[in-house]
Amino acid sequence: MNDCVFCKIRDGVIPSEKVYEDETMFIIKDIDPKAERHYLMIPKRHFKLLSEMTEKDTEDLGRCLKKIPELSSLLGLEGGYRLVINQGDDAGQTVFHLHVHIMCGQSLDFPDLRRSK
Ligand code: 5GP
Ligand code: ZN
Repeated sequence: MNDCVFCKIRDGVIPSEKVYEDETMFIIKDIDPKAERHYLMIPKRHFKLLSEMTEKDTEDLGRCLKKIPELSSLLGLEGGYRLVINQGDDAGQTVFHLHVHIMCGQSLDFPDLRRSK
């Protein structure tokens, strides 16, 4: 059984606030936002880490990244935005289905990324 929370969101088993979807990926609002606006862009194909990408995953992630600026007005990216891909424990990765954080809607100082433990 697949226990991956993002696969479950992809399949509609867990609800989410989806703001965009195409054949390759979907974008949802993060349930615990760390910026004024915080989205997660999630490739539909499950893989954990950049180090595990197949050729197809590589192609898909490239398409995903290229799509972000095209969604500028939908996501409100006009003022700038930050992309983050956490990889592994030291980065604080908690969901092991690769995803891209999209943060925007405010001035993003670098220390804002750090989590308080
Ligand atoms: P990571 O720490 O793995 O880079 O990021 C995982 C992100 O997924 C976190 O920012 C967390 O708030 C978000 N998240 C975890 N579970 C859910 C969920 O069920 N729904 C949504 N929308 N976001 C989630
Ligand atoms: Zn998954």
